[in-house]
Amino acid sequence: MAIEFNSSKTENTLNPESMKNKREAALKRAAILRETIQDYLAAREKIPSGFDLANQYEQAREAILKAFEATEENWNDWHWQLRHRITEVDTLARFVSLSDQDREEIAAVSGHLRWAISPYYLALVMCDEPHGPLWRQSIPSVQEITDTNGSDDPMAESWTSPAPAITRRYPDRLIINVTNQCAMFCRHCQRRRNIGRVDCHKPRHTLEKALNYVRKNREIRDVLITGGDALLLDDLVLDWLLGELQAIPHVEIKRIGTRVPVTLPQRITPSLCALLEKYPPIYINTQFNHPLEVTPESKRACDMLVRAGVVLGNQAVLLRGVNNNPHVMKKLNHELLKVRVRPYYIFHAKNVRGTTHFITSVDDGLAIMENLRGYTSGLAVPTYIINAPYGHGKTPIAPNYLLAKRGNQLLLRTWENKIIPYEIPS
Ligand SMILES: *Cc1c(COP(=O)(O)O)cnc(C)c1O
Repeated sequence: MAIEFNSSKTENTLNPESMKNKREAALKRAAILRETIQDYLAAREKIPSGFDLANQYEQAREAILKAFEATEENWNDWHWQLRHRITEVDTLARFVSLSDQDREEIAAVSGHLRWAISPYYLALVMCDEPHGPLWRQSIPSVQEITDTNGSDDPMAESWTSPAPAITRRYPDRLIINVTNQCAMFCRHCQRRRNIGRVDCHKPRHTLEKALNYVRKNREIRDVLITGGDALLLDDLVLDWLLGELQAIPHVEIKRIGTRVPVTLPQRITPSLCALLEKYPPIYINTQFNHPLEVTPESKRACDMLVRAGVVLGNQAVLLRGVNNNPHVMKKLNHELLKVRVRPYYIFHAKNVRGTTHFITSVDDGLAIMENLRGYTSGLAVPTYIINAPYGHGKTPIAPNYLLAKRGNQLLLRTWENKIIPYEIPS
């Protein structure tokens, strides 16, 4: 029997000499591992997060409050924030320094497409550099009207609507589009064709028709309420809509698409959370695109949502001059995990007319993914998606880790770029 014991194992664990060798090998390996992220550790110091702003943000906020003769209480009131969205170039010029050319270009775009920035987001823009990542997302650029590429509806959403307000492109889930209103009209908006001239919530009878479609189609187990920004509906309407969905037996989960944790965190109120808490399970996907957007105020909003039992995810859009950099994207995902938002998707920017100056190369996206996997927590690694044209759906794009496959013989490429044969026992 004694012979059956694994003698080499016994020796390895008991022999002090080999213990020492193992420890030395592990220390060496740790030094190599540390080396693989030195570039990131150096770079991240220079990438500001919303948590680093402190004084700068306070000053910006006070300047805006003073200009609007408003109070702290106003600032924390989402209705006040919405009513005071900045929509005119003269107002904007009071807060950010605009060149004459900036002014002319913004005015030129204004004639074509609405723009609006919540006072909260403007305070963040004031902390950013001119034409920096937050500026680019919120302040119009002349390329929006000089763009000759792209189409208004590359996703053919208008072709995939089997009932009013519904987009259905997948077998078991669909979108209900409830409003065109947003706290801020992002300059990279993929649904800019819906922005129109006025804010417009879908009327109750349209939502009734959408609900009826869900009721009649029993394979729909996942309903995504989006817009515009779904959380710009009033609490009463949300309460009714979520209640109706909750009452449909085959609807297993409800999802909400909203950017308010980023652009209007004041919208996350105790009463909103109390109503969300009544209808579990609810998943909210939001859109943080840059670490500067992860602020103490957005953290507060996320904390409240998590306490209400909501599961939070992030759908970043890969945007030129905003986040098309592996270090920025890694830092963004780290900041998000700190506020309990799980990175879910990185979308390649779509070919939407007026936004094509934001489009990056697919190599930018692949480099970002390559620099996440293995180098950081798997939790910080979203799926990179290109939307196939004409509504053919979300298509995952990933660096290649399976170099070859012949029957059970695989050739793997590890995160460190080591090429290793692997055989699956048959
Ligand atoms: C993105 C999308 C969904 C949700 O897709 P998931 O991959 O499940 O997050 C559902 N319906 C439509 C029409 C969509 O565009």
